[in-house]
Amino acid sequence: MKDDEIMRCPYCKSENTKVIDSRETKDGKVRRKRKCLDCGKNFTTYELFEQRLFRLDELEEKVRKIEDIVKHW
Ligand SMILES: [Zn+2]
Repeated sequence: MKDDEIMRCPYCKSENTKVIDSRETKDGKVRRKRKCLDCGKNFTTYELFEQRLFRLDELEEKVRKIEDIVKHW
């Protein structure tokens, strides 16, 4: 595990956190809602896509563009 993969709670610095929601942003990042299992607080992180997710995202982006084209016909 790389150091930057460990997400610490900004409140109590615990590494004991859980992802409760994951969303893509338009600039190629993923916004993750996390919950600290030690103090119970929620916080949000912005992370770069992992390589394998990025390919999927590119495909979804293409599908979205095609859908847009279809809608405007
Ligand atoms: Zn905490």
